[in-house]
Amino acid sequence: MSELLQIEGLAVEYGSGGAAVRALDGADLAVRAGESVGVVGESGSGKSTLGAAVGGLLPRTARRTSGSVRLDGADVGELGPRELRAVRRDRLGFVFQEPIGSLDPTMRIGRQLRSALRGRTGGRPVDAADLLARVRLRDPERVARAFPHQLSGGMAQRVAIAMAMAARPELLVADEPTAALDGEVREEVLDLVFALAEEAGTAVLWLSHDLPAVARRCTRVAVMYGGRVVEAGAAADVLGSPGHPYTAALAAAVPAAAARGERLVPVPGRPPVLHGPAAGCAFTDRCTRAVDRCRTERPARAAVPGRDVLCHRAGEPRTAMTEVHR
Ligand code: ATP
Ligand code: MG
Repeated sequence: MSELLQIEGLAVEYGSGGAAVRALDGADLAVRAGESVGVVGESGSGKSTLGAAVGGLLPRTARRTSGSVRLDGADVGELGPRELRAVRRDRLGFVFQEPIGSLDPTMRIGRQLRSALRGRTGGRPVDAADLLARVRLRDPERVARAFPHQLSGGMAQRVAIAMAMAARPELLVADEPTAALDGEVREEVLDLVFALAEEAGTAVLWLSHDLPAVARRCTRVAVMYGGRVVEAGAAADVLGSPGHPYTAALAAAVPAAAARGERLVPVPGRPPVLHGPAAGCAFTDRCTRAVDRCRTERPARAAVPGRDVLCHRAGEPRTAMTEVHR
């Protein structure tokens, strides 16, 4: 089956020279039409950089040094500004952690919905209240007349979701849109995004620290570490029988972390900040299973059925994996 989104060997650096930070170090990821893929990884692993690269939204200080991002086969990085704008308008939707960032503080909500969506609804007039009702905002008429600062965080996020989903995009990139929200509102917004996406047949790329939520909502999971996707596969498989020691550590810590109400699951040690391609596996220093070649040789995709795993030891017998991070 052909992929909607195909990211291959993507490397992105911020800044230049010796101080450049290599946020992506050869990331691979594929998303099929209509599926939901959760991308998890701790802070700095490159999730937001990956999401931004999908829409050609990287800041000017960022540089793609290798690899490709293809939407239905066409490389997003090769598009001119006009083509890129058209792709973003017609085929992609974005929601971010801070909805306020996608809203104009000086404009009433209804007016900005209409202005943002002009040209996206095939000539039909934009009914702002109808769109706001679809994201289950109570009293949509009143919200349409409000200014952004008059909305709660959860309401503003619903407005941002209405904007992102109005044109029924093929792919929604959601960069931690619920991270700033409290428990109950967070669940409601999660439900909303996945319900709208399913209804519209929109594929979802959900970037998050929240491993349990990702496991519940997404059919596939991709685990990032040090700017690479170190493991990807069906959510139940990846979390039920991790193939990468980092995934194993995350999965093992989930029940305890959930009990404490934590979302970010710590693994002893600190994540790497790369200034060039990693010589070996970036997880080596924190890995209880590392051997000499992990330090010197970049792991390639291991031959694990139904799974993409970047680990030199992934092919070894399963019993050897259970000793990891208990
Ligand atoms: P978080 O969970 O904190 O959102 P993330 O997984 O989204 O983290 P990124 O924001 O993509 O990670 O960051 C990857 C690396 O790139 C980090 O080392 C980060 O400090 C660096 N980085 C990100 N954005 C910039 C920027 N605009 N300028 C310079 N460095 C950046
Ligand atoms: Mg981020």
